[in-house]
Amino acid sequence: MIRKKVLVTGGAGFIGSHLCERLLDEGNEVICIDNYFTGSKQNIIHLLHIPYFELIRHDIINPIFLEVDEIYNLACPASPIHYQYNPIKTIKTSVMGAINMLGLAKRIKAKVLQASTSEVYGDPQTHPQTEEYWGNVNPIGLRSCYDEGKRCAESLFINYHKQNNVRIKIVRIFNTYGPRMHPNDGRVVSNFIVQALKGEDITVYGDGMQTRSFQYISDLIEAMVRMMNTDDNITGPINIGNPQEFSILELAEKVLKLTKSKSKIVFKPLPEDDPIQRQPDISKAKAMLNGWEPKVSLDEGLTYTIEYFKKELNIEGTKTYYI
Ligand code: NAD
Ligand code: UDP
Repeated sequence: MIRKKVLVTGGAGFIGSHLCERLLDEGNEVICIDNYFTGSKQNIIHLLHIPYFELIRHDIINPIFLEVDEIYNLACPASPIHYQYNPIKTIKTSVMGAINMLGLAKRIKAKVLQASTSEVYGDPQTHPQTEEYWGNVNPIGLRSCYDEGKRCAESLFINYHKQNNVRIKIVRIFNTYGPRMHPNDGRVVSNFIVQALKGEDITVYGDGMQTRSFQYISDLIEAMVRMMNTDDNITGPINIGNPQEFSILELAEKVLKLTKSKSKIVFKPLPEDDPIQRQPDISKAKAMLNGWEPKVSLDEGLTYTIEYFKKELNIEGTKTYYI
């Protein structure tokens, strides 16, 4: 087995922590960098005793000098409430962070993977979304700091590849959920589960007829690792998501059923530029990633996530930090 040195930016976040775990399980050496804006040490505390795991507090808007074989660039707040908290910082993280990681990859000849997003499609006017679709993004709207930042990062990745031969991979991740989402993250799955477990009202924005396609974390991690291992001529972008599409109201009803909660559904205003429908076309991912496809159904993934939040919120049983 070849032990690789892998850098994960945003490694103390929801997705990053699962990725660090997976890379260490495969016998690699992992350097995690994070500024703890939305991530936390608690997400990776169970990895700190591993000699091949290194944690660095660092903000990716500043350059960093390291020697690694591969870079997964995940650092960026992902929930609308967090990325809208300081929109200029969000843009800097996506754009300057991409420049710093690409510059690093160029100097040390590392492969670099960008965690892009279905948000590059904005409020899509084609359905399902294929990689060829250019998107429908409001460049001055509330979501633009995230959407345009990620679009600019994709452009940087492609141009570093074309101009400087940097080996790049771009994955466009669709709504992903699972254990280690922050309880106050603000995204729909964690919001609904926490509300249901606490017996609070379930806040559906708009009429709840807008759709999303929810992917469980383990399916995403598998695809990201497979993407990193593809031949150098495969750059993406490729869509990574679970094509099973649900309305937000259907999601609320599922969460109520699985938690056996008595919470009521209440309707709140729909945020500005909230996409009406979203579903990935994953034909490219299936073809390029050795037949990869999502394995975990929404019911199954929600069950695991509900168990996690019960512990996190100290509902039934005790929360454990150390493993
Ligand atoms: P998260 O907020 O849990 O993780 C982001 C991590 O990045 C956090 O640990 C945060 O502290 C760190 N971070 C933020 N700004 C930073 C900076 N300037 N320097 C260093 N670290 C910084 O979110 P997540 O869901 O784990 O998302 C990870 C990545 O995946 C993000 O790039 C996000 O855009 C992308 N993504 C996620 C989803 C999803 O559904 N979860 C969908 C599409 C794309
Ligand atoms: N949403 C909701 N209630 C909430 C949080 C979100 O109805 O408490 C809706 C939100 O308006 C959007 C969908 O759920 O239509 C997904 O929102 P999320 O923030 O999870 O992700 P994104 O909009 O970025 O896909």
